[in-house]
Amino acid sequence: MTTPLLEVRSLARVYEMNRGLFAKGTGVRAVDDVSLRLERGDTLGIVGESGSGKSTTGRVVLGLEPPSAGDVLFEGRPMAAHGSPEWRRSRMRMQMIYQDPLGALDRRLPVAAQVREPLDIHRIGNAAERDERVGELLQAVGLSASVTQRYPHELSGGQRQRVVLARALITRPDILVCDEPVSALDVSIQAQVVNLLSDLQAELGIAMLFISHDLRVVRQVSRRIAVMYLGRIVEEGDADDLFARPEHPYTRALVSAAPSPGRRIADREMLQGEPPNPAQRPSGCSFHPRCPVAIARCRSDLPALVDLGGNRLVACHLASAGGIVPPSMVPASAAKSQPAMEASAP
Ligand code: SF4
Repeated sequence: MTTPLLEVRSLARVYEMNRGLFAKGTGVRAVDDVSLRLERGDTLGIVGESGSGKSTTGRVVLGLEPPSAGDVLFEGRPMAAHGSPEWRRSRMRMQMIYQDPLGALDRRLPVAAQVREPLDIHRIGNAAERDERVGELLQAVGLSASVTQRYPHELSGGQRQRVVLARALITRPDILVCDEPVSALDVSIQAQVVNLLSDLQAELGIAMLFISHDLRVVRQVSRRIAVMYLGRIVEEGDADDLFARPEHPYTRALVSAAPSPGRRIADREMLQGEPPNPAQRPSGCSFHPRCPVAIARCRSDLPALVDLGGNRLVACHLASAGGIVPPSMVPASAAKSQPAMEASAP
């Protein structure tokens, strides 16, 4: 097996809680035993609800937060310590696009200076080469020359995210980590920015880690998708296959909830309840309080992420035993014992 561009092995990120409701020494496992591979030029989507650990995974991958356990390997080598010269060199090749473009930009700098700044910081090229590269990038992201001397507050949300994208691409990175890059934009603009990201990623051969709560958007840009729930990966597979044949009940609910032509609202499998508090993780399978097909074992045994073949990994006792039973076919006795009912109580 070749060395992937990025590899994450058994990653964990635990936040120690010493105040308020939490006793000293209580640990919240925001990310728990996450392993991922990203090949050069490939796209991996990470999807999950708020609190699933997807954004924390992205920050740890970039070295913006230290892992509590596990490894992040870039081209087969461990990520250097945050702030070290080696880490800075790696970071130049791994760029991030955040949800809020206004927050990511310096309000005091005009567009051209913002996009050029990484080249100035890393002393890449001479002044003329830097200006030429800025012009090329602004054109590539669909911004006209008329915006180069404008300030972020003078631009629309879509234009700002294009500036952020140009700035991220200016150092010719190998990896883009996109954390909810379109969720702050108007729906009408979202599709334009997603298409632009997708086109540039394919054209420039950049690997992309695309993080979003929106499965439809993730599917549009990802060859492969990892689904996270309460800090763990519960399912991973090729995007189209996962969408057509979700195995884990949580993935099924996400796919079912995503608008799709021809699917009636009444036919959707709606997810019940809210994600549990990460500081009070349910025993066994942490999805069991919301799972419509949970069995007694789910309350006590944590399911391992099992390779089901066909490039599909699933963490579910029922799926790994041969398939999920549709909720309508769950025997009444099993349905009664489902702890999902308990969870809906306050
Ligand atoms: Fe549902 Fe049990 Fe599978 Fe968890 S392990 S998803 S609770 S059936």
